[in-house]
Amino acid sequence: MAFEGLANKLQETLKKLRGSGKLNEKDVKEAMREVKMALLEADVNFKVVKDFVSRVTERAVGHEVMESLTPGQQVIKIVNDELTQLMGSTQSKIIFSPKPPTIIMMTGLQGAGKTTTCGKLALNLKKQGKKPLLVACDIYRPAAIKQLHVVAGQVEADVFSLGDKTKPVDICKAAIEHASKSGNDVLIIDTAGRLHINEELMDELLEIKNNIRPTEIMLVVDSMTGQDAVNVAESFNQKLGLDGIILTKLDGDTRGGAALSIKAVTGKPIKYAGMGEKMSDLEPFHPDRMASRILG
Ligand code: GDP
Repeated sequence: MAFEGLANKLQETLKKLRGSGKLNEKDVKEAMREVKMALLEADVNFKVVKDFVSRVTERAVGHEVMESLTPGQQVIKIVNDELTQLMGSTQSKIIFSPKPPTIIMMTGLQGAGKTTTCGKLALNLKKQGKKPLLVACDIYRPAAIKQLHVVAGQVEADVFSLGDKTKPVDICKAAIEHASKSGNDVLIIDTAGRLHINEELMDELLEIKNNIRPTEIMLVVDSMTGQDAVNVAESFNQKLGLDGIILTKLDGDTRGGAALSIKAVTGKPIKYAGMGEKMSDLEPFHPDRMASRILG
C-alpha cells in the first residue's frame, strides 16, 4: 500500500508526542531525529529532508506551541502542514486551452506506465465531458501502437495513428487537423520512451514541442524508482520544461520518496497518481489527502 512503511514509522514517533502533556525543546528535537530517519529510509531526497526537519523544528519549538495546552498535537499539525506543503499545498489541475484543442504531450521512460496512463487520462477526461483523441507517436517500440489501440478500446476513446513510418512531429500535425474535423477537444500524445535519457529522445521531444506547442507537457514517472524518478524528472524539466508530473505505481510504493521529493526538487507539481493497473486507477493528486494518509 502507498506510504505504508513511512506511515508506520512516522505515526509511531508522533504517537509518543501526542501522549505527553508538556514538551520541551529536547523532546521535539528527539522526535525530529526519528522523523528524519524515517524520511531518509523512505528514500526522500537528503536536502529535502534536511530543510523539512529544520522548518518543522523552527515552528515547533516556538513559544506558542510549547506553552499551549496540547503541544504534542500542535507539533503533529505542523508536521502535517509541512508534508502538505512539500507535496505542493493544493491540487494542481490540468490546464485546458481556451482555444481547443488542448494538447497534452505525455513523456517518460520505457516501462514508467506512459501508454497505460494515456488510456487512464482519456477515461478521466471523458468523465469531465471531454472528447479526447489518443495520438500514437511511439513509433519505435514494437507493439506500442497496438497497445495504445488496446487501452483506447478499453476506455472507448478515439485513436489517431499513421503507423510507424511517419515522423512523430508529422503524426502530431495530422492529428491536430483530424481533431478539428472530428470534434476532439483534447489530444493526448503518447510519445516514444527509451530505457535511458539520451539526446536522440530529447531532440525528438523538443521537435514535437517546438512545432506543436503543447498546452501541457506531462512526465510519467514510476514512483517505485524513488530518487531515480526524481533525477529523471529533473533532467526532463531542464531539457524540455515540464508542466506537471504523473506518478505511477504509487499503489505499490511503501516508501514514497519520489512523491515527497519531486515537487520540492523540480518545482513542478504532481497532477495525478496511478494507483493500480486498471483504467479507472488514476487519481488527481491531493497533497493534503496524501499527508493525512501518511499521518493516519
Ligand atoms: P510504458 O512503457 O511507459 O508505456 O509503460 P506501460 O504503460 O506499458 O506500463 C508498464 C507496466 O506498468 C504495465 O504492466 C502497467 O500495467 C503497469 N502500470 C502502469 N501504471 C501503473 C500503476 O499506477 N500501478 C500499477 N500497479 N501498475 C501500473
